[in-house]
Amino acid sequence: PLPELLTPPDRRWAALGAPWSVEVAPQPVPGAHALLYNETLAQQLGLPLDWLQTPDGLAVLSGQHPWPGYGATASVYAGHQFGNPVRQLGDGRALLIAEITAATGHHTELQLKGSGPTPWSRGLDGRCTLGSALREYLASEAMAALGVPTTRALSLTGTGLVIERERPEPAAVLCRTAPGFVRFGHLEYHGLGGLGAPGANRRSTALPPPATEFHGLLRLADQVIAAHWPDLAGTPQRHGRWLTDVLGRTARLIATWQTLGFCHGVMNTDNFSVLGLTLDYGPFGFMERFRDHHVCNPADGEGRYAYGEQARVGRWNCERLLDACLPLLAHETGEQDRSDWPQARALAQALLPAYSARYNREVMLRWRAKLGLATERPEDQALLNRLLTLMQAGRCDFTRTFRALALIQAVSDRVAHGVRDSFARVLPEFDAWVRDYRARLVAEGSIDDLGRAARMHRVNPLYVPRQHLLQQAVRQAEAGDLGEARQLLRVLRQPCKAQPGRERYAAAADPASP
Ligand code: AMP
Ligand code: MG
Ligand code: MG
Repeated sequence: PLPELLTPPDRRWAALGAPWSVEVAPQPVPGAHALLYNETLAQQLGLPLDWLQTPDGLAVLSGQHPWPGYGATASVYAGHQFGNPVRQLGDGRALLIAEITAATGHHTELQLKGSGPTPWSRGLDGRCTLGSALREYLASEAMAALGVPTTRALSLTGTGLVIERERPEPAAVLCRTAPGFVRFGHLEYHGLGGLGAPGANRRSTALPPPATEFHGLLRLADQVIAAHWPDLAGTPQRHGRWLTDVLGRTARLIATWQTLGFCHGVMNTDNFSVLGLTLDYGPFGFMERFRDHHVCNPADGEGRYAYGEQARVGRWNCERLLDACLPLLAHETGEQDRSDWPQARALAQALLPAYSARYNREVMLRWRAKLGLATERPEDQALLNRLLTLMQAGRCDFTRTFRALALIQAVSDRVAHGVRDSFARVLPEFDAWVRDYRARLVAEGSIDDLGRAARMHRVNPLYVPRQHLLQQAVRQAEAGDLGEARQLLRVLRQPCKAQPGRERYAAAADPASP
């Protein structure tokens, strides 16, 4: 018997049908066994945890059985990978297994990652290694606890399957949730790939797309708006307003990344969520030693997706989304019969600054909070830049340095050793910075050191998923022991709260960076 919550599932995305959504059965794995369940998330979303933890639930979460009343689907999308347009990508190893509106009113979509090949696997196996699935689980939970919009992990299932990578690795199936998994690439598909047989790259011609293609794009965009922006649905200028909000959410997301030292690693447009969620955890990394040009993806030789480039890339990706949606804007400007859409292009150009405006606002809001500044002053940007320059020259650990700044006192020039030590390489310059920082604090009347330290500790985490911590959890999990993964999860779920006895989780991998 199925719990009432499970039936009937929604069919928003499934109802779109081909080509966006194609039914694909997961390919069952041998030896499926539960490794992790995210009980807190299940409760928050109103998902039936009791049932998920039964053998029937495990069968669904591992791809042995469909979600009751729902056939799993894969979707097609396009995208720009490392700057290059790619006409057709699509869910190669992800399947949507359910769309649910829980009793709480939350609309949640569930995806399996690593449940076997789809029509868009491009010859790959559709599987996911235990290591990468566990890294995604741990990192996405850490991000959620840090207040970063993200897809979440609901469960991790081990398998008896070994897959070929650089070395043979155990395969796993991750079940992740989000209010929706729509990517920039889903919209771009209509400009780059289009409906039906792959044709000419639409962007390379000045011609408007044929009617069928326009109607495909319109149908998809309106479906997304109806599902996630219900207030805009059916309104005359909905597309421009919707895109403005997508730009704003993207800007806000990247502002949260920058102020946590998070590098995504593969900021291709197909990995960008229209809902502004962190999506697709691959070669991501939380920076240890601060370096503006830090690159966490070994395959990114040019550093296109370096830490210091992320805000610009976000804007570039938004431009690609606007390109893809030009036909929608041309519809709004009444230019659908013209070939060059001058007003629609002008409208897109006018929308774009929404990204930078929102980014600048969101990022400075967060930097100020990290510095414990209560008011806004024009010189704040320069104060921050000087600090970051010193952190880079001093090879300082990003997370530990911001945490330690709370030790600086406004009305006493005694600087606690914890913070000064990490700037050993640039001590005179750091001492000069501290003088200016203290003057800035005094000028805004922020002389309550304890109160400010407490506020700073609420936004400067102690614990982030450092590479060596993830590696250690993965190594143990590969040997059949999830103990370290569970321990790390517990620590990462309260990232800003000092946890006695857990000091090693706050330490840098390299002792040379204090
Ligand atoms: P990513 O670099 O993770 O964004 O992946 C790019 C594309 O490759 C996406 O369409 C993925 O679905 C697909 N892909 C990555 N790994 C696999 C795999 N093992 N099997 C099938 N498709 C994959
Ligand atoms: Mg991807
Ligand atoms: Mg990936």
